[in-house]
Amino acid sequence: MNKSVDHIVVGQGLAGSILALTLLERGRSVMVIDDGNPVTASKVAAGLYNPVVFKRLVKSWMADDLLPYMDSFYPRMETMLEQSFYFSKRILKPFAEEQEKTLWLKKTDEPVGKYLNREIYNDDLGGIVFNPLGISEVVHAGNLDTPKFLSATRNYLLKQDVILEEKFEHDLLVTNENTAHYKGIAARKIIFCEGHKTTLNPFFSWLPFKLTKGEIITIRLEKGYKIPDEIVLNKAVFILPLGNDTYKVGATYEWNDLSENITEKGRSELVEKLEKVLKISFEVIDHQAGIRPTVNDRRPLIGLHPDLDALGVFNGMGTKGVMLAPFFASQFADFLEGSAPLDKEVDIARFK
Ligand SMILES: Cc1cc2nc3c(=O)[nH]c(=O)nc-3n(C[C@H](O)[C@H](O)[C@H](O)COP(=O)(O)OP(=O)(O)OC[C@H]3O[C@@H](n4cnc5c(N)ncnc54)[C@H](O)[C@@H]3O)c2cc1C
Repeated sequence: MNKSVDHIVVGQGLAGSILALTLLERGRSVMVIDDGNPVTASKVAAGLYNPVVFKRLVKSWMADDLLPYMDSFYPRMETMLEQSFYFSKRILKPFAEEQEKTLWLKKTDEPVGKYLNREIYNDDLGGIVFNPLGISEVVHAGNLDTPKFLSATRNYLLKQDVILEEKFEHDLLVTNENTAHYKGIAARKIIFCEGHKTTLNPFFSWLPFKLTKGEIITIRLEKGYKIPDEIVLNKAVFILPLGNDTYKVGATYEWNDLSENITEKGRSELVEKLEKVLKISFEVIDHQAGIRPTVNDRRPLIGLHPDLDALGVFNGMGTKGVMLAPFFASQFADFLEGSAPLDKEVDIARFK
C-alpha cells in the first residue's frame, strides 16, 4: 500500500475511536489499525458516566467541563454514525448506613450538590431492592453503550476504507523528523491508543501505568421483576439494565492478577455483593474481564514522544474513558494542529 495520511491511529477502543472520529470530523485524514482483540476494556465496560465519586461524595475530576462536552460530542456521533448509543439514566443510590445519608444531605449544599438530588424517598423498586434507609439519585448521569458505539465506529471506518484490521508491528515502524512510515503508509503522526497494551510498546513502555483488572457479570432477574431501563442502581455494585430482562453488574478492581481471564474470585465477589442488595433471586448468564489503562496519578496520558516528534499517545483513560475521551481528544486535536497547548495534568511531559 502506498498512501499518505495526516494521522495513523493505533487501536480502536474508546480512546482510538473517539480520537479518530474527532480528527475525521475536523477534515483530517486518518488510518486506524486495530487487531480486533475480543477482550478489551472498551468492549466489556458498562460505559457509565457519573459526575459524582460515591466514596467521598465529591465531584469527579473536571466533571463540570467534561459533561457539557460529552452531551455535544456523542449526539453528534449518533448522527454521523446513524446509531443510538448515548443514554441518559437516573443513578439511584440506596443508602447503606445512616452516616451515608447524613453526608449526602450535607453535600447537597456544596459544589457537588448540583449533581445530587435533595429528595430522599422510600422505594424498593417493586420489591426488588433492600432499602431500609431510603434512596436518592444523581442528576446528570447515564451511559454509552460501548459495544454498539465501537461497532458503529468500525462500520463507519470500513465504509470510508480507513481501517486496517490487523496487529500493528512496532518493529516495522520507521520515523524521521516530521513523518512516520508504516507498511507503505506515510503519516505526519502515529498516535498510539492501545489501552493497557501500551505497556508492551517499545516507544512508550516507560509510561507509569498502574493497571487495574475489572470483571463484570450479566444477570437475569427472577421472573416477573424488572428494573426500569432508565435506572442504574448503585450500592456496592452497579446494576445496569441492558434490555431483554438482562442486567450488567460490576465491577471488580484487581491490581495483582493482570491476566485477561475471568476468575471464580471475581464472580463470587460480585454475586455476594448483589445478594446483599437484591431481595429476589437472579441467574448469572455471562462473565467478562478487561484491563483498565489506569495510571499512577489517575490522569490521562496524552502527548508526543520526548525524542520522536512523529509519535504520540492518547491513553490512560483509566476508569472513566466515556467522560474523559471526547474532551481530551478535542484538546489533543487542537494541540496537534498547533492551536492550543495540552493541559499540564494530562501531558506525558510531566513524567520526563
Ligand atoms: C469491567 C470494566 C468496567 C468499566 N466500566 C466503565 C464505565 O462504566 N465507564 C467508563 O467510563 N469506563 C469504564 N471502564 C474503563 C474503560 O473501559 C476504559 O477507560 C476505556 O475502555 C479505555 O479505552 P482504550 O481505548 O484506551 O483501551 P482498550 O479498550 O484496551 O482499547 C485498545 C484497543 O487497541 C487495540 N490494540 C492494542 N494493541 C494493538 C496493536 N499492537 N495493534 C493493533 N491494535 C492494538 C486493542 O485490540 C483495542 O481494541 C471499565 C473498564 C472495565 C475493565
